Amino acid sequence: MEFIRNELQETIRSSAVDFAQNYLKPRVEEIETAEQFPEDLFHIMADMGFLSLSYPESYGGLGAGYLTLSMVLEEIARVSPSAATLLTVCLLPLDAIHLFGTEAQKQKYLVPGIQGAYRGSLAFTEPGTGSDPKQLTTVAKGGNGKYLISGTKRFISNAAYKGPIVVVARDEGADTCTAYIVEKFCKGYSLSKPWDKIGLHGSHVYDVFLDDVEVTEADILGGYGKGFDLLIGTTTYGKLAFSAVFTGIMDGAYDLAVKYAKEKLHRGSPISKFPSMQDKAARVAANTLSSRLMLYKAAEDADTITNDIRRVQASAALVKGYIADLAVETCTMALNMHASYGVTAEYQVERFLRDAVIAPNIEGSADIQRLIAGSYILKSAEHFL
Ligand SMILES: Cc1cc2nc3c(=O)[nH]c(=O)nc-3n(C[C@H](O)[C@H](O)[C@H](O)COP(=O)(O)OP(=O)(O)OC[C@H]3O[C@@H](n4cnc5c(N)ncnc54)[C@H](O)[C@@H]3O)c2cc1C
Repeated sequence: MEFIRNELQETIRSSAVDFAQNYLKPRVEEIETAEQFPEDLFHIMADMGFLSLSYPESYGGLGAGYLTLSMVLEEIARVSPSAATLLTVCLLPLDAIHLFGTEAQKQKYLVPGIQGAYRGSLAFTEPGTGSDPKQLTTVAKGGNGKYLISGTKRFISNAAYKGPIVVVARDEGADTCTAYIVEKFCKGYSLSKPWDKIGLHGSHVYDVFLDDVEVTEADILGGYGKGFDLLIGTTTYGKLAFSAVFTGIMDGAYDLAVKYAKEKLHRGSPISKFPSMQDKAARVAANTLSSRLMLYKAAEDADTITNDIRRVQASAALVKGYIADLAVETCTMALNMHASYGVTAEYQVERFLRDAVIAPNIEGSADIQRLIAGSYILKSAEHFL
């Protein structure tokens, strides 16, 4: 495992630090208050290539891989978890199209998507389930190359922006499902108002109502009846990206807690002198560092294991399940290091905690991640670690 960043990774990571500190940090308050992610900042992120890192150069990507992407998402989440989440949810449909699209679909959607021409969506979750593809009720009816999709998708990110949405729907009369690329706001597409959620205020989720949305053979992504395969592939890289976001959240909470402990005085001395503060600082640091090391190992797996998606999925799920719960614990500790100041918006650490509590409940629950990883480990003949 490579712990030292190579030159390309260092250059790209530095540009993420530059963006986060100089462009994003001054706008964090605005994002929280307006509960909107500014269009101009989204385009700066796209222009800086942050949507392109994991895709091949032949489609306009940088071909820098998932380890580099992880480093970038971490640095952005360290300042604004909302911004890193926005990037991650934009990558979900791009990953689906990159991994499973036809050449025509890649030219039509991947190439402009990488450049930030739209904010795409991926719609799997429904009111009944966000964990079990067998329970999907959104259905595509028809045949002979024409289908009508009807159903409700829940908690769908970016659903109010124009652009493509990858919809996973059950195949009529079968136990299988298929993914379709649909244009948002086409005939039969409508939305709820955004869900009012605890954190990640710069990235909104909606219910999407699909009422006889017409699609053709050319809109099928990854083959008819192959929706489960598409989900496994796409969400594997999604879990990895979210793990980077959650690690960055811990970095952000760590930064604030260390600064506060050094600055706050009791009887003229900083509270960092208290053993209880040193204990918490060490635990916050250990949680953050162990998450980063696990993240980089899983990202390296994603970059190097190209012929065994189940193995990469198990790695990503193991890490995502672990980091998600740790992010909540770590941000709680960082907040407690601030005592009452920690619960005020002014001191910012409460924002990191509010964003962190979403971690075990997005892109598959933390429980399900452990089931995926554990079942792979116990079935596998090879030594997993
Ligand atoms: C901010 C945000 C953005 C999101 N964006 C998107 C998006 O763009 N697209 C999208 O499709 N979804 C999106 N989601 C939805 C999210 O991915 C799902 O909510 C998540 O995967 C969990 O699904 P659920 O809430 O339906 O939980 P459920 O599946 O109903 O699970 C409920 C509880 O039961 C447990 N459970 C379920 N099944 C099992 C089992 N077999 N064994 C053991 N325990 C089980 C789970 O661990 C969980 O604790 C988003 C969610 C959030 C919060």
